[in-house]
Formats: sequence, structure tokens, C-alpha cells
Amino acid sequence: ALRPEGPKHNPFGPGTLTRVIAVTSGKGGVGKSTMTANLAAALAQQGYRVGILDADVYGFSIPALMGLAPGGVAVKPTRLDDMIVPPVGHNVKVISIGMFVENANAAVAWRGPMLQRTITQFLTDVYFGDLDFLLLDLPPGTGDVAITVGQQLPNAEVLVVTTGQAAASEVAVRAGVVARQTGQRVIGVVENMGPLVLPDGSALALFGEGGAESVATALSIGQDKPVDVLAKIPLSLGLREGGDEGMPIVLANPADPAAQAITELARRI
Ligand code: ADP
Repeated sequence: ALRPEGPKHNPFGPGTLTRVIAVTSGKGGVGKSTMTANLAAALAQQGYRVGILDADVYGFSIPALMGLAPGGVAVKPTRLDDMIVPPVGHNVKVISIGMFVENANAAVAWRGPMLQRTITQFLTDVYFGDLDFLLLDLPPGTGDVAITVGQQLPNAEVLVVTTGQAAASEVAVRAGVVARQTGQRVIGVVENMGPLVLPDGSALALFGEGGAESVATALSIGQDKPVDVLAKIPLSLGLREGGDEGMPIVLANPADPAAQAITELARRI
């Protein structure tokens, strides 16, 4: 069969009608993937057409968070001609490196070129159709994937997730700075794992407070428009349990304070 030659089309690059939002953090374990999954579910619930591209090669936790990894094994995408059809979880189209590797440890040792090819293929060969939002779950830090995404999607808007802790917020600033070097715009900072409300009504700030403000302040230097703290998400047992069960808390228990904060974030972005 005849087929046009040349580079394949990336429908999410500059000029796209889809808002591309890259969720990043300085280090792992701050809740970046949990935030991506819940934000996607909240946007889908608000009626938007949403996809997630899970580019967190070291974590790829999105399939499980979106209920697409029964028994701990990510579902396999189907194919239509030469396109990959993304599985759908909670009305969100999801593609993840975890859906292609034989075991969860396989992709972690990949080098830059392999990662670059995979991200490029996800953008060109996955049949997402028309989307209002494409969320990217980036690996923490400033490595090969972040740079590839920056090159392929200079139009992406960047959401920085941090905890209140200085150790998380200092490296989060760097992730924001690298994103900006490729032309991406930092749209805001989310502080996760905020004070836990105890049974007696008092609050325990396990991870400290103020991390997001210091990231926003640092990323605002030299910008026309200051970078805002868009949301503060408290520590929440339900948020963690919902993640473990593949049922985002914004759907499972919208009254939970963490769910309310994420639903509000989905309205603000
Ligand atoms: P990252 O993507 O930054 O590595 P994850 O989203 O995987 O982080 O979250 C790390 C762990 O913390 C997960 O077990 C997740 O359920 C939990 N977690 C994330 N945010 C919260 C929160 N606000 N309250 C309680 N647990 C959380």
C-alpha cells in the first residue's frame, strides 16, 4: 500500500486546539501522579474530553490510578490499522509505558534515545481523537523525558507539584526553570500533602508549609505575570486509598477536602 513518507504528525504540538498540561515535580513521591489522575478525572467529569500521556518512565502509576491495571497488570492497548487505541478509564483516554513493557522494571533502564522515540510515538501513533485536555505525567526532575517533551510540545503549560517541604520545593523550582527554557509556560504551583486534620480538629503539618509559595515566588522572578499557587491539597487517607483502588477520590468521595481542592483546581486551570 502507498503511504505518505516523512515525519508523522503530532496533533498536540504548536497550533493545537488541545490544552496540553505537563504535570511535573522536582522529586518523586510528592503526589504528582495522584494529582494528574484526579485532575483528569475531575476535568472529564466536568464534561471535557481528556487524555493522559503517562511519561513517568520510573513510576508509570497512571494505569493503576485510573483503574486500568486489574491485579496490578496494566491493560494492553488495542490497534486500529497502524494506530494505537488508548484504553479508557473513568472517561479518560490513557496511554502509558506500563502498557507496553513485559514487567514493571523493564523500562527504568532505558536510555535517552529510546525514551525519546517512545514519547514521540505516543504523540503521533496514539489515536486520542479530539481532546480538550491532554495531561502529561512527567517523571520527576529534569531528565531526558522532560527535555523531549519540551522539544515536542513547546506549547505545553506546566503545573508544578511540590509538598511544603524545602527539600521538595527547591528541586521543584529547577523543574519549572527547565520547562521554561523550552518555551513552555508555568501556569501554577500545587502544594500537596498539606496539613492533616486530626480527630480532635487540630491540624498536623507533616510536610511543613510554604513550599508552594516559595516555588511560585522563585518562578515569578523576571516574568511579566506572576506564577500563582493554584491549589493546596491536604493529606487525605481517602485520596491515597482511592489511588490504590484505581478510583480517583474526586469521583469516589467528592466531599473529601482533598477531592474538593482538586475539583476546584480543575475549574481554575
Ligand atoms: P509521585 O507521582 O510524585 O511520585 P504519587 O502520586 O505516586 O507521587 O504519590 C506517592 C504516594 O503518596 C502514593 O501512595 C499516594 O497515594 C500518596 N499521596 C499522594 N498525595 C497524597 C495526599 N494528599 N494524601 C495522602 N496520600 C497521598
